[in-house]
Amino acid sequence: MTKILKVDPINPEPEVLSEAVATLASGGLVAFPTETVYGLGADVFNSDAVSKVFKVKGRPADNPLIVHVDSLQMLDEVVEEVPDNVLHVLKRAWPGPLTVILRKKPTVPNVVTAGLPAVAVRCPAHPVALALIKGLGRPVAAPSANLSGKPSPTTAEHVINDLYGKVDVIIDGGDTFFGVESTVINVLTDPPTLLRPGPIGLEELTKLFGKDINVPQHIRGFSEAEVALSPGMKYRHYAPEKPLVLIELSDYGDLSKLVNEVLTVVNELTSSGFKVAVIGSDETLSYYTDAVKLSLGSRKNLYEVAKNLFKVLRNVDRLDVDVAVVEGFEEKGIGLAIMNRLRKAATRKLIKTY
Ligand code: AMP
Ligand code: MG
Repeated sequence: MTKILKVDPINPEPEVLSEAVATLASGGLVAFPTETVYGLGADVFNSDAVSKVFKVKGRPADNPLIVHVDSLQMLDEVVEEVPDNVLHVLKRAWPGPLTVILRKKPTVPNVVTAGLPAVAVRCPAHPVALALIKGLGRPVAAPSANLSGKPSPTTAEHVINDLYGKVDVIIDGGDTFFGVESTVINVLTDPPTLLRPGPIGLEELTKLFGKDINVPQHIRGFSEAEVALSPGMKYRHYAPEKPLVLIELSDYGDLSKLVNEVLTVVNELTSSGFKVAVIGSDETLSYYTDAVKLSLGSRKNLYEVAKNLFKVLRNVDRLDVDVAVVEGFEEKGIGLAIMNRLRKAATRKLIKTY
């Protein structure tokens, strides 16, 4: 049985929190909102509970979970040592959507880190997530609360669609704030290595760490990494079931070029007998006269685009179409995360270098 508990996202009701905390404390699974996406939480020190998280998501056992803490003090319960420069960054970036990779304490069960000696940790900025961890008094291991491979959930409805009947509690705290998963950075290397782009952009990371960040080419989402260093790279992810064609330009200064590319592909697909949806932006949508169309928002506000991304990808599967064509976005700030997710979700990519 799954219990759905509505909560005020800003001032969560104590009765709701205590019920969810009791569930976690007794080894149950609780889906809860964070500022990035919904998480599926388990008591980090309860291996059986953590194993259940993998099972209900259908998540490969070699894809480690992020451990959520409520403070820098709690960070000490799961990691060996925090270098001064990292502490300095975390003091400024937490609570927030920044996950760091550090060496794990032996007490952190291997199932959490998929056997890796390092653990991913973050302190979420969402009042509900923070209150849950505080209430439990222990860190909470939580991947995104979706079935493995599907777009991450940004509303409780997404969680219900994927996990109803499989978890104990789903806390409905409305829409998440950012809509894409946290930025993941490995701070065990010098310079630090970006493992997953997210709401904290590369420009911001460079400022926080006071140095250039190492960005492996595959981070942009083009090719698969062989090793599950950052498992998000290894599996097809964030994807609707219907095929998705991504059209990207090297420069989005002249949107008429983008519109022309999209129209060419749409016409090709339509004349081959496919029903096509276009996922565009407020600036371009009116040009796609004959297609079913969805906007991700304005190109002037990439935070809005990120926030709508997974909802729109999930909606594609509900439309009476065979294929969707999606526009690319500038890789600036959170745009790098948007393009990383789109490239992973796409079945076909068309890249135009203008
Ligand atoms: P999810 O919780 O579904 O957002 O996925 C967790 C993500 O955290 C993975 O895809 C990795 O990018 C990252 N991650 C978690 N643990 C580790 C680790 N020990 N080393 C490297 N990356 C990790
Ligand atoms: Mg996930």
